[in-house]
Amino acid sequence: MRKPILAANWKMYKTAAEAKEFADQLLSYLQEQSSQYLLQEQVEILVCPPFTALPAFAAATKGTAVATGGQNLYPRKEGAFTGEVSPLMLKAEGASYVIIGHSERRQILGETDELLNEKIKAALEYGLKPILCVGETLEQRRRGETAAFCRGQLAAALSGLGPEVCDTLVVAYEPIWAIGTGESASPQDAQETIALLRQWLAETYGPDEAAKVRIQYGGSVKPENVAGYLAMPDIDGALIGGAGLQAASFWQMLQAVAALKA
Ligand code: PEP
Repeated sequence: MRKPILAANWKMYKTAAEAKEFADQLLSYLQEQSSQYLLQEQVEILVCPPFTALPAFAAATKGTAVATGGQNLYPRKEGAFTGEVSPLMLKAEGASYVIIGHSERRQILGETDELLNEKIKAALEYGLKPILCVGETLEQRRRGETAAFCRGQLAAALSGLGPEVCDTLVVAYEPIWAIGTGESASPQDAQETIALLRQWLAETYGPDEAAKVRIQYGGSVKPENVAGYLAMPDIDGALIGGAGLQAASFWQMLQAVAALKA
């Protein structure tokens, strides 16, 4: 039984003070005894702040049901890599997850499959759980290449890794045309692609291993549509951009998922 995971990706938004404010608000919602129990049982809660706000967020949520993740890492322990942050540093500041290969980093920062493969390996080496993002462009979707392209992204990012990766890996299927656009894939379309990703994992690592991997949908998820995705058999959570910036709407999505899974 896979526990769903709702993750807020804050991108380049929020200062440390704003992160602390969000944390306090989210924790005040969680204070209510019944909701705390319900949520802890039914859904994993993760927030990925920018590096500068990560220590403040992790400190404010330490010992609670709210986990912290990085949005990126550089695949070295330390060294002369100006502007970069290592997995060791993320871990030391309280992160337990890290997003790898978000389409904004692939497209704007030019990250290649080879680099992402190194990043996944580095995350695992330092005990961070990777959230590997895959997703097609609108043109690829129109040409009917969605599944083949996303499966290729999985194969490249996971190259050289054995079945044990399935113990910690989270995959986020994020069609690029649905990110930050207000346009989202239908739950049925997302399910169809995600089932094909799981099939690739099963062919590569075996069905039992593939069944352990949580696969999120991401792309304009909000309180009104989150339950539709999570009701699908292969969708195990959501990676949320815009709607995860306010504690109130993140909370609404957590409650919607907890109610669905109760
Ligand atoms: C994202 O940043 O991964 C994302 C899915 O953004 P949004 O929810 O705003 O579409």
